[in-house]
Order: sequence, then C-alpha cells, then structure tokens
Amino acid sequence: MLIRKAYKYRLEPTAEQAARLAVLCGHARFVWNHGLRHCLEQLDQGKKIPSAFELNKLITQWKKQDDLSWLKEAYTDNLQQKLKDLHGAWVRYFDKSLAAEKPRFKKKGKNQDAIRFVNFNKYCQLDGKRVKLPGKLGWLTFRKSRQVHGIIKNCTVSHKSGHWYIAFQVEQEVTVPFHPSTSAVGVDAGIARFITLSDGSYLKPLNAFRKHEKRLAIEQRKLSRKVKFSANWKKQQAKVQKVHTRIANCRNDYLHKASTKISKNHAMIAIEDLRVSNMSKSAKGNVEQHGTNVKAKSGLNKSILDQGWYEFRRQLEYKQHWQGGMVVAVPAHHTSQTCPSCGHVSKENRRTQARFKCIECDYTNNADLVGALNVLERGHRLLACGESALVAQ
Ligand SMILES: [Zn+2]
Repeated sequence: MLIRKAYKYRLEPTAEQAARLAVLCGHARFVWNHGLRHCLEQLDQGKKIPSAFELNKLITQWKKQDDLSWLKEAYTDNLQQKLKDLHGAWVRYFDKSLAAEKPRFKKKGKNQDAIRFVNFNKYCQLDGKRVKLPGKLGWLTFRKSRQVHGIIKNCTVSHKSGHWYIAFQVEQEVTVPFHPSTSAVGVDAGIARFITLSDGSYLKPLNAFRKHEKRLAIEQRKLSRKVKFSANWKKQQAKVQKVHTRIANCRNDYLHKASTKISKNHAMIAIEDLRVSNMSKSAKGNVEQHGTNVKAKSGLNKSILDQGWYEFRRQLEYKQHWQGGMVVAVPAHHTSQTCPSCGHVSKENRRTQARFKCIECDYTNNADLVGALNVLERGHRLLACGESALVAQ
C-alpha cells in the first residue's frame, strides 16, 4: 500500500536566504492574485474559469509584458504550482457538495505565505540536515527533529509567525496493516460534549477558540487603533497572528490526541455523515428571516466548527487507514430520536437536550450516548448488508 505523508521542520535560512524566500513568496502571491483577477474578469464576462493548462500559459504571457518583466526573476515552478492551487480552489468552490469558500486575494503578511518545489529528485537534494533548493536558494539548514522516510516527491516552504518552515511530502510503501483490535465503536458529535462514544466514554468540548477569544478581541481592538501599515500596526498584527497560531496549535493537539486514542482502540469507527459546512451556510442564509432562532443556530454552528469536527473526521479516516481499520459514515437522520431498545422514532423521545426517554418503552439514557449507540448500530448494518437508508425519513 502506498501512502502519502508530510514531514515538517523549522527552517534556518541565512539572512540572505530568508530575503530570497520572501521575494519568491512575493512572486507566488502576485501570480495568485493576478491569476485570480483574470478568473474574476472571465466570470464577469460570462465565460468559464480557465483550465489549469490555460492558467499555466498565462505565466509566459505575463513575463513578456514590460511592466511584469521582473517575473523573469521568479522561480517558474513556484508560480505554476500557485496557479495549480488557484485552479484547485476554483474547482472546490464550484463543487456544490463541498461548500468551499470562493478563492480570495492574498495579502502580504495576512495569509500564510508558501511556495512549493516539485520534482524533488531532479531539482532538490537532501543531505543530513541540509536541503538544496533551486531558485537561487542553495543549501539551507533545517532542524531535523526526526528522519524522513520514503521517497520525497516535493516540498513546501512556508512562513508563519516570523518563522520559516519546510515540509517534505513523501510517498511510503507500507504493508497493509491488520488492526490490533476487533472492537467497534459509534461516535456522536455534540455541543455539550465534543464527542460521545457508544461505550459510554466522552470528550469534553474543545472550545479552543472560546478560551482565547478574549485575548484575540483585545489584540484586535489594539490593532484597529493603530495607523494602518505603520511600524506599530505591523507589530500588533504579528501579535494577532500569534494568538491565531496558538488557537490552531491548541486545537490540533487536542484533536490528534483524541483521534489517535480512538483509532488505536477500535477497528471499526461509525460516525454520522454530517455536512458541517452546509449547516453553517443555512444559518447564514436566513439571518434576516428568522432573527433569534438563527442567532442561536449560528452559535451552535460556530461551536461545531470550533471543535473541528471536520478535521477530527479527516484524522480518524487517515489514522484508521494506516492502522488497517475503517471509518463508516452512516446517515444521520433521527439518530438522536430513535430508541436503541425498541426502535421507536419520535421527537418526543427527546424532551431535553441531555436526556432521552422513549415514550413507548420507557428506555432512558443520556441523549448523546443514545446517538452514539444508534450510529454504531447503523454502522454494523451498513457493513453487513450494504444498506444506506435504514430509517424511514
Ligand atoms: Zn423504546
């Protein structure tokens, strides 16, 4: 089995190399923005977004323009990769099932700068804790905290909160593992608890964002009082960025610990097939029509998104893939209203957010746990007979 994986390290460029990296990132950012402007113009004229190939050809055209001749100083592969990313962003945006955001212009210092070097074998070289990169960069050192295993296909250099990083994307050949456990578990995602497992255990809500929200608000307020683009403004902007990074780190750490633990203990993990981003969209769209109701819903959505359910599911899937286990996504209809004991489906079964009480057979339990039990049950049935719509809708 061939798997893809990334190894990320802190890069330690010399001052000269850092300056060159900043220039290369600037080129790439320019090409993204220029390409995006071109795409938007095409759309305005009722035309389609250019194909990846057409976008690529633009680079050659731009380099011939007098006012853009400085692009000749750029490393072309970086530019091509940026336009490839731009094209991918449009494809995701037009894919209705993904609810992805429209590609946006990149601002210096605001978005994370990154450039990708492809064909590693041909143009780059790895030697101990040094890596040779094209684009007039030469040999750069990095903090090699662990070995790189596998064949390096490409690498990405990025800049975040004042530091440079390099990530090597590798392909590894691994034997298909056999999951050490035979246990199966159902997972219910919630608000009061991040997740509840069908074995009765649960994880507290993450709310990493909430915890740092105050700090973020303070730093952002300070930023708004500074003169835009002044030295102090830039300093303050870096502070805001740092809080953002802290939130992301805190969240990732929590999600990784949780997904690793569950993936290690259970060969089959059944989850609800929730479309989180669709939920948040529908709330946004109705703000004017139903004032208060939607407000509550937005809060709920925000909470779901905070908790990174999407990211959590992504982690569960790839970790199960590595371990030889599986993730089964089951239809989410009525998982919280179905009685695990007699199968009766009713809204009345769930009078409060926290408690489940069946109006037919009096079965009582924690509502989130009931959800997890139903998800597991559906996972089993899905595997056994390939059924997907199991419940009357
Ligand atoms: Zn019942």
